Amino acid sequence: MNLKEKIRVIQDFPEKGISFKDITPLLQDKNAFKKSIDCMKKWSENLQADIVVGPEARGFIFATALAYALNVGFVPVRKPGKLPGQVISAEYSLEYGKNILEIHKDAIQPGQKVVIVDDLLATGGTLLTTARLIERLGGQVVGIFFLIELSELKGRETLKEYNVKSLITY
Ligand code: AMP
Repeated sequence: MNLKEKIRVIQDFPEKGISFKDITPLLQDKNAFKKSIDCMKKWSENLQADIVVGPEARGFIFATALAYALNVGFVPVRKPGKLPGQVISAEYSLEYGKNILEIHKDAIQPGQKVVIVDDLLATGGTLLTTARLIERLGGQVVGIFFLIELSELKGRETLKEYNVKSLITY
């Protein structure tokens, strides 16, 4: 089965000039969703991950499924003001404006091996910031997995120090 066929491309959403990659048809298809998680599980072999981290919001979908498949815990990285406990945060630049991400201070124990999963790699800013938050807590990022990679935006260069894998490339 070709997973790319399950991605719906919508032009000019949410604004003009963006070619939006809609993952909902893939999620709806039990075989495509299972295949995606099974592939990520394969990539995780030998990494001995202790935790899977997913950034809000679409990262939660793949990261929780992978955590379940690996029989490890899940940790959310969220937009500001959403996590109730003590957090650390980091700010990063977007094409226009800035974004902030937060993680609970006690979410990662020093030395834990962490896999991060998100739906899509664009510039890599979100994932680099997520990786840095994990490292500030003493975690070791052993893999960063994406469903989709937009290769033109060169996110892989931003994440060059990490083990990056993606299932679908545009
Ligand atoms: P970035 O930090 O630039 O790598 O952006 C990553 C996040 O932005 C991803 O987790 C996606 O949810 C979202 N995103 C960016 N570009 C697109 C796109 N063309 N289609 C769908 N989602 C996108």
